Amino acid sequence: MKLDTPDEVRWIARTLEEAGYDTWAVGGAVRDGLRGARTADWDFATLARPNQVRRLFRKTVPLGIDHGTVGVLDRKGVMHEVTTFRKDVDTDGRHAVISFADRIEDDLARRDFTINALAWHPLREVLLDPYDGRGDLEAGVLRTVGVPEERFAEDYLRVLRALRFAGRFDLRIHPDTWAALVASAPELVRLSPERIREELVKVLGGTAPPSRALALYRASGATEVVYPELHALDDALWERTLAVVDALSPASEWLRMAALLAPVGHPDPRADEPSPDDVRGLRAADPIAARAVVRAMAVLSRLRVSNRQLDQVSGWVAEGLEPPVLETGAERRRWLARVGPERLDGYLRLWQARHRVDPSLADPAPLARALREEVAAGPPLKVGDLAVTGRDLIALGHRPGPWFGEVLEGLLELVLDDPARNERDELMPILTERAARAAGSA
Ligand code: ATP
Ligand code: MG
Repeated sequence: MKLDTPDEVRWIARTLEEAGYDTWAVGGAVRDGLRGARTADWDFATLARPNQVRRLFRKTVPLGIDHGTVGVLDRKGVMHEVTTFRKDVDTDGRHAVISFADRIEDDLARRDFTINALAWHPLREVLLDPYDGRGDLEAGVLRTVGVPEERFAEDYLRVLRALRFAGRFDLRIHPDTWAALVASAPELVRLSPERIREELVKVLGGTAPPSRALALYRASGATEVVYPELHALDDALWERTLAVVDALSPASEWLRMAALLAPVGHPDPRADEPSPDDVRGLRAADPIAARAVVRAMAVLSRLRVSNRQLDQVSGWVAEGLEPPVLETGAERRRWLARVGPERLDGYLRLWQARHRVDPSLADPAPLARALREEVAAGPPLKVGDLAVTGRDLIALGHRPGPWFGEVLEGLLELVLDDPARNERDELMPILTERAARAAGSA
């Protein structure tokens, strides 16, 4: 048994070993190496304390000194996490409280799953595998290190991590681990929203089909606890939703998030929900999409996503996954004006994914082409694109007021119908006349 170990990895280990500190490569890199997958992401566990690590290397970054983690830059400038051996001293279900340890064995004992509790000595070329993680990897089994009930109770995030790793490597969860996991699912409410979110984002951003982990979320009861809006979907809609998520690229996990949340408007309206007419200025495609926006925003706010992601994802959700019927140029421009041309690319990919899952639906390609051509022609889509502005109204002798915006919006309607009319000579007389009328009634 020999792992292909890069020179830079040996260099870091040698530097620490020559100073007298036992040092191992651990975690994902060893696991992925055994699976025959290459990884650039080598992490280390060492006897050296963080300040000793920092003294030995020229370039280091204090990543989490309290947790014992120092970032070490190798000679190619790639950063590696070097973490002092640790053991758990106290746990509260939300995270483990750790202290430094003297032996790699202690460090491996606190790790979550057998496939993650592997260590490789880059110089002696020895694999340390006290829980037969290699056997589990070969058999395709995910199981906890130690008693599953206890390991989940120490840190309930391990429930979601189990689902993610099982999905990622297509592993069966060992029956004992599964039983404890299902029993632990109700305790997921105790986790911080950020940790719950990061798990979902990793599932959506992974190259393995997210449907595998997400199906396990549902089967284990985790969905019911952390994503009740998704739990409410019936089986058929849930299956279809997962298929659409899979059909999107892992490079845009937020678009996958939109595909996942887009159907949540479907179950019956709930009495306690806010009116979907008023969704932060977003005009949704239809009442179901409007309800989806309200519920998707509730999920995303609960997960504490940034305002940018919230706006982006809810904008995609607002249109649903199926393309609108837009037969004329004017209809297409009005639609683009409403949703914002910057969201177009996301919609096109959502429609394509939806169509791939259900080829009996209308092919979105012709509409996609027409919309792309429309955008490429650069038509005026917002008041700021008009050939006349509020300054023209002031030059006409008017005092600024809210009616300025209304008059300009009216002109935008004209040029959305016919972009050729967006010329000063064409618009000034109309502006003059409408402004006189509006000022008269203002
Ligand atoms: P990835 O390729 O996703 O980074 P990874 O195995 O490196 O996979 P990380 O989340 O980076 O996963 O964690 C690194 C290692 O730390 C894991 O392999 C595992 O041994 C350990 N670990 C991480 N989080 C926990 C946890 N909550 N409980 C126990 N051990 C954990
Ligand atoms: Mg990692």
